Amino acid sequence: METSIEIPHALRPFDGRFGSGPTRIRGEQLTFLAAHGGSVMGTSHRQAPVKDLVGRVRRRLAELFALPAGYEIVLGNGGSTTFWDMAMFSLVRDRSQHLVFGAFSEKFAQAITQAPFLQPPDLVTAPAGSRAAPRPVDDVDVYAWPHNETSTGVMAPVERVGTQNQLVVVDATSGAGALPVDVSECDVYYFAPQKAFGSDGGLWFAVMSPRALERAQGLAQSRWAPATLRLDLAIANSRADQTLNTPAIATLILMDRQLEWMLGRGGLRWASERVAQSAAALYAWAEASSWVAPFVDDPSHRSPCVATLEVDTRLEAAQISRVLRENGIVDVDPYRGVGRNQLRIGLFPSVEPSDVQALMGCLDHVVERLAP
Ligand SMILES: *Cc1c(COP(=O)(O)O)cnc(C)c1O
Repeated sequence: METSIEIPHALRPFDGRFGSGPTRIRGEQLTFLAAHGGSVMGTSHRQAPVKDLVGRVRRRLAELFALPAGYEIVLGNGGSTTFWDMAMFSLVRDRSQHLVFGAFSEKFAQAITQAPFLQPPDLVTAPAGSRAAPRPVDDVDVYAWPHNETSTGVMAPVERVGTQNQLVVVDATSGAGALPVDVSECDVYYFAPQKAFGSDGGLWFAVMSPRALERAQGLAQSRWAPATLRLDLAIANSRADQTLNTPAIATLILMDRQLEWMLGRGGLRWASERVAQSAAALYAWAEASSWVAPFVDDPSHRSPCVATLEVDTRLEAAQISRVLRENGIVDVDPYRGVGRNQLRIGLFPSVEPSDVQALMGCLDHVVERLAP
């Protein structure tokens, strides 16, 4: 059925970007980049202006996460996917345990499984829409799981498990900056700038504990690794407010601007409450709806920043998403490979809660006109 439905402009959100990564970048950040980027972009990353920028981003992240004593902010090129390879070479000594409950946690586990110098990992799996819990065992030296499984919209707690010699390594790519966290409950909290920080891709950041810093430096003595995957080199460069090779400067400028915006309004508490407010409204609407329902059964497992919604089988989610796209509302599609009749909506700090209200109105408007 081909339909062209026009959503009245009065119903539409102010900004139609609801992606789960890359996410909406606020217009103010882009205006700032255009106006001020020229004084930093196109200049040497070994000179003061770029080093100041890197230093400022590191300090603001330290403030946002209330950095515990001895913890450090480390960064490098390549995004979270590169950090998985870095963890493979520089954090896992022999064997890791992975909680696998969606596409991103699975990709990391798969990468580790293929490493010829590591033992096959211990995998604790759970079906899409639910989550797995860590099980303490003696023979692993890393426990790994995502704070927010972006493919399914399931969040997991960041809570210590295991002993002093076992590191807790959390993929916070889409959770950092959107979900409350006590980073002292883990050893590595890593993420990328293109999710809650409404910036561009290409970099990774990691909040690292003293034990994680020590592990990375120790492994560098005993295991060969390519320079780009040596976390000890990333640590040394980060301490000097630099990166091993040229970083994405525009990404850093957008990130810095977002951090300033968040910190000026109340930091992580403010950002996570704003996200929770959007999520509460969206999930309540879905629960009351006749055509859509939250995909994640357990309300306490539902992600506040990536909401997955299961659409009634009488309707086609892909068609709803297509009509929205024709009306300037984009990226509410499910993660490829999750294979459900779903909508997936990014509710990151940059998304105005009033735009989420408008989105619900638009969805009802479209479905009333599509329904048989
Ligand atoms: C987006 C995402 C990644 C991949 O991030 P890149 O920077 O594109 O490599 C990894 N893990 C999670 C949980 C994500 O949401």
